[in-house]
Formats: sequence, C-alpha cells, structure tokens
Amino acid sequence: MREHFHALAACGAEPVHVRRESELAAVDGLVLPGGESTAISKLLEVFGLLEPLRQRLREGLPAYGSCAGMILLADEVLDTRPDAQSLSGIDMTVRRNAFGRQVDSFETDLDFDGIEGAPVRAVFIRAPWVERVGDGVRILATVPSGPAAGRIVAVRQGSVLATSFHPEVTGDLRVHAMFVDIVRERTAARLA
Ligand code: GLN
Repeated sequence: MREHFHALAACGAEPVHVRRESELAAVDGLVLPGGESTAISKLLEVFGLLEPLRQRLREGLPAYGSCAGMILLADEVLDTRPDAQSLSGIDMTVRRNAFGRQVDSFETDLDFDGIEGAPVRAVFIRAPWVERVGDGVRILATVPSGPAAGRIVAVRQGSVLATSFHPEVTGDLRVHAMFVDIVRERTAARLA
C-alpha cells in the first residue's frame, strides 16, 4: 500500500487509504495492492466493503490491481480457496501462483502497450497470470521469453487495469501514470 501511495502522489494524485464504505464512496479511483488475495477477500467481507466495491465497479469506478489485486479483479480465479470472493472488474480468468516453484519470483523487462520508451521492469512475486480474456479486454503485456513466454501479465478493460507484477517497487512511475490518466479522463467525462 505504501509504495502505491507514493507512486500515486508522485504522479500528481491525492491518495487516501480506503478502509470504510464512506471512504470508498469519496474516491475517483481505487488501487488494489498486492498481498494475499484470499486474505484481502476476507477483509473486504469483514469491513463490509465487498458489495459496495462491486457496486462502484459496476458503475465504472476506475481501478488498478497489482498481483493479488489482479486476482481480486478477475471474473474467475483458478487455484484459489472455494470461499474467496472476486470483484468481477475484468472479464478474465486468472490463475493464482501460476508461475510455479522454479520461477515463482523473478524479474523481467516487458513491452507494455501504451507505455513509450524503455521496457517496463516487471517484478513478479508469487504472481498470477491471465489464462482467458473476454472480448472487451485489451492485453497490454505478455512475458517475452523463458518458461512462461507468452503468458498474459497486464490487461485493461474500460477503466480497470491489472498487472501480475509490482511496478510500485521499481520507482518507474509509468504504469501508475497510465492509471492516473484513466482516472482523470473518467472523472472529467463524468463531470462534463
Ligand atoms: N500469491 C498471492 C495471492 O495469491 C499474490 C502475491 C502478491 O500479491 N505478490 O494472493
């Protein structure tokens, strides 16, 4: 959360923590951080945020999920607990802890659709990958080489963005800047 907070602030956003429904109601966009998706799912239930968040996503709230956040945003999750909840923010199937033991944590450079210049350094920590995307989902990045070559690791559907990896830990602000742009566009369109 802290790293996302700093990256968002560096992009000119005004980040706040969201723990209550009233705080959720006040934001123009939401970042779902990494961590443990089944634990975050439980906390969303305990804090009464699950339904309000689903509702806001249905209404078009921009959201960005990294790693566990990507898992939470999926329509369908493979290799999770049966009681884990998902937010259905993106029409996709995600496999949890997909990269397997040998490479469960690794780094690589990615071409990222919509990000100009140098490739994006991607840090994967017991990351998921995307196994299926629906028609409305844009694939933004895939693993370039190695045993997981071709696996989808960044997607966007409407105002919802998700990455398997953690751009918040590298100091490269471009993924967060992309999300902040999405939030600004969406907010401007809503106010117009
Ligand atoms: N493996 C974690 C999960 O299933 C995600 C790891 C992460 O967010 N870095 O939720």
